[in-house]
Amino acid sequence: MAETGTNEATLSHLPGRQRRLGNPPGRRAWAPAMLRGALGACPACGEGRLFVHGLRVADVCDRCDEELYHHRADRKGVALAAFVALQIVLLLAAALQFLGVHWPLWVWVVPWALAFVLLMRPVKGAVVGLQWALRLHGFQYAAMCRPRRK
Ligand SMILES: [Zn+2]
Repeated sequence: MAETGTNEATLSHLPGRQRRLGNPPGRRAWAPAMLRGALGACPACGEGRLFVHGLRVADVCDRCDEELYHHRADRKGVALAAFVALQIVLLLAAALQFLGVHWPLWVWVVPWALAFVLLMRPVKGAVVGLQWALRLHGFQYAAMCRPRRK
């Protein structure tokens, strides 16, 4: 009889889903993973590049071979960047209104567009880092097929 490496007795303390999948992964800290992603680094090791060719996320980290193609941050990252840029511009507009500066509404499109472009990459990287840390969208299966990191 072949040894599978896991059995029901060693996994009996886990909830049903993890017990069925075997090799339960350790917890990942989401804040450092998001920070690494926002800085354009691999959320797993912090050394490899997260992005290749602008906003395209690398399939695999070039340093630690972590699979990154599982991410689903294409539309979420852009929408969240637009939202964050809008919040920044609205805060700035409110502050200037309070100080008595009254610019027409269309003028605020320029700083919003600039903030949006500047924030797209860090926000998308942070979303990918969060997805990696929470093992969403396929990251959980990759974690179970690889040896656990310290
Ligand atoms: Zn890496």
